[in-house]
Amino acid sequence: MAEQLATNITWHDGDVTPDMRKENMGQQGASLWLTGLSASGKSTVAMALEKLLLSRGKHAYCLDGDNIRHGLNKNLGFSAEDRAENIRRIGEVTKLFADSGMITINSFISPYRVDRDQARAAHDESKIPFFEVFVHCPLEEAEKRDPKGLYKKARAGEIKGFTGIDDPYEAPESPEIVLNTHEQSVEESALALMKMLEDHGIV
Ligand code: ADP
Repeated sequence: MAEQLATNITWHDGDVTPDMRKENMGQQGASLWLTGLSASGKSTVAMALEKLLLSRGKHAYCLDGDNIRHGLNKNLGFSAEDRAENIRRIGEVTKLFADSGMITINSFISPYRVDRDQARAAHDESKIPFFEVFVHCPLEEAEKRDPKGLYKKARAGEIKGFTGIDDPYEAPESPEIVLNTHEQSVEESALALMKMLEDHGIV
């Protein structure tokens, strides 16, 4: 957990309550945390769900690993320490988005269980719904897809510490839902997530 460095700071509560936001947005904000190997289909499914939600008049937004690394987290690399800080910042950002009433869909490999658990704990503490979504497909299938050619580079030793090759991926122990993208189509996965949101009264 990151240390609190600033002193003389006070949390300022506003006059708008979570219920007022919910009513105004016509939905309950929430975070969906898609985790899985590179090329397992996180971004593809996230974007399909975002489109589906918008087509139903809901407010949704995707936070994507590579995009965040271009901006907010451009000063972080792929060491275990930097990966942890990457996920910590994203956990805080997604919590703020969800608190604003947005359905936030995160696609990050987020390979370490402890980091994902921290994001969940931060949401629990603020009573914001958090759904861990395990986007699963066998490594061989992910390697076959390899849309960005990253596995090929990792196998050739051109990328060090690549998740699934020479860095571990710790699968979720009790995710809210598992998507098997080698068996389910993109549309089926997006619909499964939509149903989960409906079942939990988010939409
Ligand atoms: P990630 O975000 O997990 O790295 P991407 O979504 O960027 O993965 O890439 C997954 C690739 O797999 C895409 O090229 C996508 O079109 C392909 N793909 C094939 N079948 C599926 C499926 N059933 N679900 C999701 N992606 C799939």
